[in-house]
Amino acid sequence: MSHPHISLIIPIYNEEALIEPLLERSIHVLNSMTEDFEIIAVDDGSTDHSLRTLREYHDKDNRMKVLVLSRNFGHQAAYTAGYHYAKGDYIAMMDGDLQDPPELLKDMYDRLITTDCDIVSAKRIHRQEKFTRRLLAKSFHFVFARLSAMQRLVDVGNFSLFNRKALSAMLSFHEKHRYLPGLRSLIGFNHEYVEYSRQDRPTGRSRMTVRMLFRLAFDAFFSFSDLPIKACLWTGLFGIVLLVFATLYILISKVVGLAPLGWSSTLLSIYFLASVQLLFLGIIGEYISRIYRETQNRPIFIVQEYID
Ligand code: UDP
Ligand code: MG
Repeated sequence: MSHPHISLIIPIYNEEALIEPLLERSIHVLNSMTEDFEIIAVDDGSTDHSLRTLREYHDKDNRMKVLVLSRNFGHQAAYTAGYHYAKGDYIAMMDGDLQDPPELLKDMYDRLITTDCDIVSAKRIHRQEKFTRRLLAKSFHFVFARLSAMQRLVDVGNFSLFNRKALSAMLSFHEKHRYLPGLRSLIGFNHEYVEYSRQDRPTGRSRMTVRMLFRLAFDAFFSFSDLPIKACLWTGLFGIVLLVFATLYILISKVVGLAPLGWSSTLLSIYFLASVQLLFLGIIGEYISRIYRETQNRPIFIVQEYID
């Protein structure tokens, strides 16, 4: 069986209202790039009619594949599942809510071909989303770029196109907690960017709850930076320096006869030290739970059916 030139991976979780425009626009732009493509829609345990609609599309056009996961695994897992099934020379990742405009795929493809690079990521220069979402995203990218020294990743998400070399490199990472934009940068190769303005989704709310966004942000921080756990050491050292000065101060006060120190300072230092200790226990807990998850070695996704 010959393999397609381009595989487009789209995770779908309860997007029934958007599937039609999404696929129409995607097929239109892919047709302008090559005849030889496949679209892999990964149904991430949708509970609406998404799967039925996807099946109908598959019956009309066999370039349309549907990878059905056995339940909801989250969109990073859905993309990962798509990686394993993509057969194309080039692989594209695109969200299924039309926030990533399919038309941009053509620009990304042209950039990839003309510059002979391995990966093209879409960079958002504007966002037209709710203020709180924008704020969360901005703060995440601000902190992440500083924590992980991945400055180039600011405002880069999943939307991307890359070749098979890059795909194999990504597939060689087996970690369970994954932040794919980070991995895509970590593997190296020649990486180019095209800029676009990110629209809000046409209908429905984001399928990623704030809780899921935080979890993803934590995955990014903890797997791409040692800073959280190193901060324990630095804070501890700083505390010891403070302690030296405090001891001097207390001893001198004692000798000079200014000793009646109140309970405020005592209580404050107890509160302060206790909360610093709890904070760092929490951070260590994050690492331990991640280590535990990795050693459990559970699958990242489970496939129920592949309709190709
Ligand atoms: N998605 C998914 N599984 C999930 C949550 C989301 O496959 O558990 C899909 C969703 O259908 C969409 C894409 O991932 O195609 C991005 O989701 P969303 O728009 O909710 O994320 P945001 O744009 O807010 O980051
Ligand atoms: Mg979205």
